[in-house]
Amino acid sequence: MTGMSSFLRAWRDAEHRWQSCPLVLRHASQGLVLVMLLALGTALVHVTGGTQYAYPYLMLIPVLLAGAWYTWYGALLVALAAGLLMAAIPLSVATGEPQATLNWVIRLGLYLIIGGFAGGLFERLRQSYLSVELASRTDPRAGLPNDIALEADLARWLKRPQRQDKRGIGVVLVRIEDIGEIMEALGADASDELMVAISQRLTRLGPNLQGSYRVSGAELVLLFWPVEFKELEHLAHRMVELGEDNLVALGVPLRVQLVLGSSLQETGDATPGSLIREARIAMLAASEKHRAHCHFQPSFARRSLQNIRLIARVRRGLAQGEFELHYQPKLLLASGRVSGFEGLIRWRDERGTLIAPGMFMPKVENTTLIEPVTRFVMGEACDFARRHGGRVSINFSVRNLMDDELLEELNRLVEEAGIHPSQLEVEVTESALVHDLFAAKQALERIRSYGIQVSIDDFGTGFSSFEYLRHLPITGLKIDRAFVEGLEKDERARKLMACLIEVGHAFDLEVTAEGVETQGQHLILQELGCDQAQGFLYSKALPVDELLAWHHEREQLLRQDDSLATRQLYRNVPPC
Ligand code: C2E
Ligand code: CA
Ligand code: CA
Repeated sequence: MTGMSSFLRAWRDAEHRWQSCPLVLRHASQGLVLVMLLALGTALVHVTGGTQYAYPYLMLIPVLLAGAWYTWYGALLVALAAGLLMAAIPLSVATGEPQATLNWVIRLGLYLIIGGFAGGLFERLRQSYLSVELASRTDPRAGLPNDIALEADLARWLKRPQRQDKRGIGVVLVRIEDIGEIMEALGADASDELMVAISQRLTRLGPNLQGSYRVSGAELVLLFWPVEFKELEHLAHRMVELGEDNLVALGVPLRVQLVLGSSLQETGDATPGSLIREARIAMLAASEKHRAHCHFQPSFARRSLQNIRLIARVRRGLAQGEFELHYQPKLLLASGRVSGFEGLIRWRDERGTLIAPGMFMPKVENTTLIEPVTRFVMGEACDFARRHGGRVSINFSVRNLMDDELLEELNRLVEEAGIHPSQLEVEVTESALVHDLFAAKQALERIRSYGIQVSIDDFGTGFSSFEYLRHLPITGLKIDRAFVEGLEKDERARKLMACLIEVGHAFDLEVTAEGVETQGQHLILQELGCDQAQGFLYSKALPVDELLAWHHEREQLLRQDDSLATRQLYRNVPPC
């Protein structure tokens, strides 16, 4: 099987090499082959004694070959030549007996009929091959060339000898960020029309643009030749400008956001695959950095390789049970009593090293892997609440909010654990909410409909309007630790904190300050009327058994002497 496929590949390569030869050379060598075959056939018929035997039929070989190369007109021409050549040879060379006229005329007619028919057939085959090839190189929805055409054209451009001025081929991958919403609102036809409109508009980029290709539902690739780095940067800049103008799809004016990644042929080793891959990596880097365009740098590739490795390790770690949920207590500031716990994920890798979520969660949150990771967290948290009572908070990322099945599972887990839904709280960061406020609101309403609490995490860092608080069905605010840090030294920080607490209370929300590390911060927050506090002053996040021991000790001290307990228990715990 592999022998067969390598033979076919070698055949295709040879054919490709042949097709890329100069046209004059190809016609000259094909003509020569035909003349040689005609001469060989004539000589053979002569040597074998004349036209009385069956050898004249060998002349059909050049006739059919001419049909394959030059269709019916080539075949007819060679058939005529073959018929006339055969007419010139006697019936018997030895006796010199000539052929009857009818004999060679019939033979000539036969050559012409067979040649014309075969030539026509070859022409039909060629036409259907060309239309199949064209279809395989075209995106059926938008009618634009597709990724197969891109690779083939790019391979052709790369074969050209490198220019003296070092300008080479530039590849720009364009992703339309909002295509999902456009498809949802207007259907797939609108997104196809939009692709065509963008591609047409980009033809204004000038003579260096050699082609534009649709390589996926939301992506176009543009080829430029000849270009150097500065020109490519300028072209990318123009593309962003052109993309930002209004476009019309299905009669609806739309404004789209484009993200671009570019790569440039810098050495002779570049291949179509490597240039497209580099442009894609650069586009992903631009998307990650919230920039409109990035040009490929080798460090991008290293980073994305590291990310892929990390994601693979997390996936394996999850399957091998290497993840744990640690719990950090939250305290009621008025009474000093523990009011709940935040579940924070930890990864104990194969060497037993405890890895903090900052090392892997930002990457995991950008992939579908966040779903099984959050399922694990939900399961652990419900189990903890069932065994030990109390309130448990878990963190949700933006993808989790958009995952209806995950939300349903959360409800199911709460029911199965037999805990009261208000024992569970979901923390969502402000930035995750503002990503798509409408969808986030729907998700939060759903969580609230299960009776589960919802609080806004890292509050105050999202630079968003407080207006949205009025519309979201939330129950709590967690003020980011950046606001807690300066409380003791800075009067203005204290005023800001007072203001944030007031905002929370104005909306009837439970206000928690996070990152409390000193006794001074604790007292100020108490004074300002903050409801809850969480931080290293009380405890870092601990594994369940250590947390239970900590809780037990604390409860005992509180029972002995309130003020003593307060003094003894607020001790600094180094971060894990
Ligand atoms: P976060 O939700 O804001 O969690 C609070 C982080 O602050 C935790 O870091 C906690 O250990 C740390 N912290 C608590 N008290 C103090 C303090 O007094 N001082 C200082 N400097 N830090 C304090 P951690 O556990 O490393 O988590 C970091 C972030 O990772 C979390 O921030 C959260 O965004 C994310 N994360 C953790 N677990 C999960 C999870 O299960 N799911 C998701 N989606 N994200 C998680
Ligand atoms: Ca949190
Ligand atoms: Ca936080």
